[in-house]
Amino acid sequence: MASILVFSERANLASELLGKAKELGGQMGLEVAAAAFNPADAEAYLKRGASKAFYSDQAELKDFEASTYAQALAQIAHKAGASLILVGSTRRGKELAGRLAQKIQAGCLTDVKSVELKEGKVICVRNAFGGATEATQVITTQVQVIALMPRAYEPAPEGVKKGEIVTLRLDLKPSRVKVIKRSEKDAGAVDIQGAEILVCVGKGLARQEDLKMIEELAQALGGLVACTKPLATDLKWLPESRIVGLSGKIGKPRLALCLGLSGQVQFAVGIREAKTIMAINTDPNAYIFQITDYGMIADLHQAVPQITAAIRG
Ligand SMILES: Cc1cc2nc3c(=O)[nH]c(=O)nc-3n(C[C@H](O)[C@H](O)[C@H](O)COP(=O)(O)OP(=O)(O)OC[C@H]3O[C@@H](n4cnc5c(N)ncnc54)[C@H](O)[C@@H]3O)c2cc1C
Repeated sequence: MASILVFSERANLASELLGKAKELGGQMGLEVAAAAFNPADAEAYLKRGASKAFYSDQAELKDFEASTYAQALAQIAHKAGASLILVGSTRRGKELAGRLAQKIQAGCLTDVKSVELKEGKVICVRNAFGGATEATQVITTQVQVIALMPRAYEPAPEGVKKGEIVTLRLDLKPSRVKVIKRSEKDAGAVDIQGAEILVCVGKGLARQEDLKMIEELAQALGGLVACTKPLATDLKWLPESRIVGLSGKIGKPRLALCLGLSGQVQFAVGIREAKTIMAINTDPNAYIFQITDYGMIADLHQAVPQITAAIRG
């Protein structure tokens, strides 16, 4: 039976893709399969509704390497009879999607925010013109590779395992990439993309020392500190891994608190999908107020300590 194949190097993201794949599979009459390179993930995907988990434990697949993973997924896609392949649109996933599509002669879209079936076509929505607008696009090849952004959909709920694990021996050519060195991420590197609560700060912050009060507020809220691009690249007050927006991370937090930042489109695209957006800015005409649910016209240096104190009770 033809299928939708799901893969992400992040198991939680694969679970989100599975949720959407099951819905599309129901509408398109396609079985839903998942690919996994460790046994725990394979089991987990079956519990989340995949009817098959294609699994390989070959040494070449132990660590992510895009060209090797693309070879593996091309063979799995063939085995699964996949006409639609959903990949997680992470930095790695996007490279993988392109390589995979080239191998199997499929059309490919990355950074896709949503997919819906309309009149038999899989309609993809992506940001366009730096996030100023949205583009609706359709892949016209028979096989489609779509990289869906994290948090676009809820994870498929866990239930009783019904499907089967299909263990494969894949024909993998040695990678032409040689890993020379692995280094730890910088100490400040955190997953702002997956954060539920983001406290974003911009150039309205007067001094680097004032970051302490931003961190205290984030801590009180159980969130993470993120920033606008100039705060990281020009002022170097925070690592670049904290940048929100077009050149940084695009997330879908429950709450995005925007402090002393203007809300230019290149930033706003990173938090626009947040459930609730709140901003504090001294300028009542700041762009950010055009997308906020709640706004406060105030000096953040006065407001933030008071809000933190109120939360702490
Ligand atoms: C190709 C390209 C890609 C880009 N990618 C990104 C990206 O990914 N992310 C990103 O952030 N930017 C990006 N930018 C830059 C973006 O266009 C803006 O320049 C940037 O987001 C502005 O940062 P900011 O809001 O911190 O600073 P500003 O625009 O200078 O805004 C500072 C704000 O703080 C307010 N303020 C000042 N003092 C206070 C105070 N005491 N209390 C409260 N509010 C105060 C001001 O009223 C103002 O609204 C990109 C630009 C380009 C060209």
